[in-house]
Amino acid sequence: MCRHLGWLGEPVSVASLILEPANGLLVQSYSPRRQKHGLMNADGWGVGFFDGATPRRWRSATPMWGDASLASVAPALRSGCIVTAVRSASVGMPIEAAAAAPFTDGHWLLSHNGLVDRSVLPLSAGAESTNDSALLAALIFERGLDSLAGTIVEVAASDPNARLNILAGNGSRLLATTWGDTLSVLRRRDGIVVASEPYDDDPAWEEIPDRHIVEVSSSGMQLSILRGS
Ligand code: GLN
Repeated sequence: MCRHLGWLGEPVSVASLILEPANGLLVQSYSPRRQKHGLMNADGWGVGFFDGATPRRWRSATPMWGDASLASVAPALRSGCIVTAVRSASVGMPIEAAAAAPFTDGHWLLSHNGLVDRSVLPLSAGAESTNDSALLAALIFERGLDSLAGTIVEVAASDPNARLNILAGNGSRLLATTWGDTLSVLRRRDGIVVASEPYDDDPAWEEIPDRHIVEVSSSGMQLSILRGS
């Protein structure tokens, strides 16, 4: 399992979301507080953000805490839409930068927190790696993010043990699902944070119940039960 975090709002720095908070993704990479599967997230990380309409990424197959440059560069990376993740590779999955979220189709940045049997996913020429998360991302991109709820319910039906927490952003929207793992939301005055777990102890964090989909846009946040369409 992994931990992910998304931001939609006023432009803020990546450092302010993942490095500065007491329990930000950097700390979650070695000491997550709510992770149900796996002890730490040492198998890579990814920072994705929108630069205008262009998604940009910085990914690595090494632990976030060991990176020599992130602390220096992250304060200068500012965006109004950010998708970041730290990875704990599932057994048998490749450990390489291309297997670390966020994945992209050129329009969306997408992270998967969970595990799915690869045999229920179609092989896709568009997949960035051979891990389950990259194959699932390719399927979601192919079906379109407007069908995210239906795709998740369908994949869960073919693999009842699957855990399918998705976080995706396209610059003006964030979508997040809960299917088997934790998710919390923090509504700030300057925007909304959607994260696998709270980055601090602010009592304003709201826990999202399992099997739901959250949509964040400039008009606010909407929560719906996850069911096929
Ligand atoms: N199944 C994922 C992988 O190995 C585990 C990491 C995650 O939760 N995305 O890529």
